[in-house]
Amino acid sequence: MVNAVENQPPHNVVIVGGGFGGLYAAKALAKAPVKVTLIDKRNFHLFQPLLYQVATGTVSPADISSPLRSVLSQCQNTQVLLGEVKQIEPQAQTVMVGEEVVPYDSLIVATGAKHSYFGKDEWEEFAPGLKTVEDAIEIRRRILVAFEAAEREKDPEIRAQWLTFVIVGGGPTGVELAGSIAELAYNTLKKDFRTIDTSEAKVVLLEGLDRVLPPFAPELSQSAAASLKNLGVDVQTNSLVTNLENDIVTMKQGDEVKQIAAKTVLWAAGVKASPLGKALHSSTGAEIDRAGRVIVEPNLSIPGHDNIFVVGDLAHFAHQNENGRPLPAVAPVAMQEGEYVAKLIQKRLNGKTLPPFNYVDHGSLAVIGQNHAVVDLGFIKLKGFLAWLFWLLVHIYYLIEFDNKLVVMTQWIWNYFSGNRGARLITQDEILQDLRSRGVSEESSQSTKASKQSIVIEKEVVKV
Ligand SMILES: Cc1cc2nc3c(=O)[nH]c(=O)nc-3n(C[C@H](O)[C@H](O)[C@H](O)COP(=O)(O)OP(=O)(O)OC[C@H]3O[C@@H](n4cnc5c(N)ncnc54)[C@H](O)[C@@H]3O)c2cc1C
Repeated sequence: MVNAVENQPPHNVVIVGGGFGGLYAAKALAKAPVKVTLIDKRNFHLFQPLLYQVATGTVSPADISSPLRSVLSQCQNTQVLLGEVKQIEPQAQTVMVGEEVVPYDSLIVATGAKHSYFGKDEWEEFAPGLKTVEDAIEIRRRILVAFEAAEREKDPEIRAQWLTFVIVGGGPTGVELAGSIAELAYNTLKKDFRTIDTSEAKVVLLEGLDRVLPPFAPELSQSAAASLKNLGVDVQTNSLVTNLENDIVTMKQGDEVKQIAAKTVLWAAGVKASPLGKALHSSTGAEIDRAGRVIVEPNLSIPGHDNIFVVGDLAHFAHQNENGRPLPAVAPVAMQEGEYVAKLIQKRLNGKTLPPFNYVDHGSLAVIGQNHAVVDLGFIKLKGFLAWLFWLLVHIYYLIEFDNKLVVMTQWIWNYFSGNRGARLITQDEILQDLRSRGVSEESSQSTKASKQSIVIEKEVVKV
């Protein structure tokens, strides 16, 4: 492709990461006279806000994953490359994808962030977090296997441990997970087991601060806590987890030290930026914050390198809030940042520029179970069923591909009226692996093996 006006090769934009930030940047450049290369280590865009529904068996992984090639197939100037970028060379203006050198004129880094264990990475094995499709499948396996193991367990004390689910972190993900697990235990699975009464399960949500959903208005936090309690969730605020070991969660509540015995612990706290933040720090000297996010300029570039931009969860943008707090790690921030940088690149090609980036906050939403959500639109705050309907419409609207919208909507409507969850599958290998790793006897494992015929294999994760 050659720029007809100046008879030069077109401006080369490389985007690393096809999440919300990278994808929206690529889409906004679709009609620009530039060549776009989008590199992602996955071949799909993941709609993370619905990951908790995969983790709790409501929808299947493929329903919330859209192949990047198909999403960008209409963007004629865009090439998608599958690969992991580990190194950026600002002097040479290249990124390394394995051994391959990919040159750029402008670079947009949008590789996101994941949960952090505050330096206690060894907790991850015991308490997985929710960020990827694999995480969601792992969490779903742990939850479903816990009920299966409880059904077979003779010792009431151990059975109670199998039926105790602890979620650490009372932000939106923790609240959504807790509400959904409670519904699974108290409604969906209620009639499916013979030895155990699944409604005796305990779902405990631990939050270090004094209320759940800390970024929301206090009245919405209160409403969310009340809905969680209605669903049967034991909400414990001011609870700081100090250790996770041998199926025991240890926490501090004020001066008091408390322990909960639980075989399923899920982590929904903290944030740790993608390692490319550190790589950029090493190669450009750009400052990073404690979470490893890159501190960006008002136009989202990094100091001294005005052709390298960082957007989304990897960016620390603190130019808008008077208190110096960075913008939150939510999808709309990433989307608006991606679109802004795409626009800025086009302006610059015409010798112009843009005013600094300004995030327009359209509001925050969090869902608690199947009928309740909280919505803060600034000028209006909604809670309960109306908020839930609003949440539903927004999520369907933003699901990237039409077929996904239709599939997910149909699934939700079916689940809503039937009270069922279809995506409750555990594959054979996963069951055996999980039972063994959790110390269930070989005899139990063998009899699980015997039921191999009845186990359905999970449908393919990604449609290609
Ligand atoms: C469980 C969960 C629930 C959430 N719920 C909500 C919600 O309800 N509402 C909301 O607004 N936000 C929600 N968020 C936050 C939202 O998903 C993020 O803010 C958003 O995804 C950030 O977009 P991003 O483009 O910065 O990163 P991501 O969407 O995380 O995308 C990063 C991309 O980069 C790729 N990548 C990473 N490293 C490399 C590399 N080295 N080389 C190549 N590719 C790489 C990844 O494969 C991925 O595709 C939720 C997040 C999670 C985890």
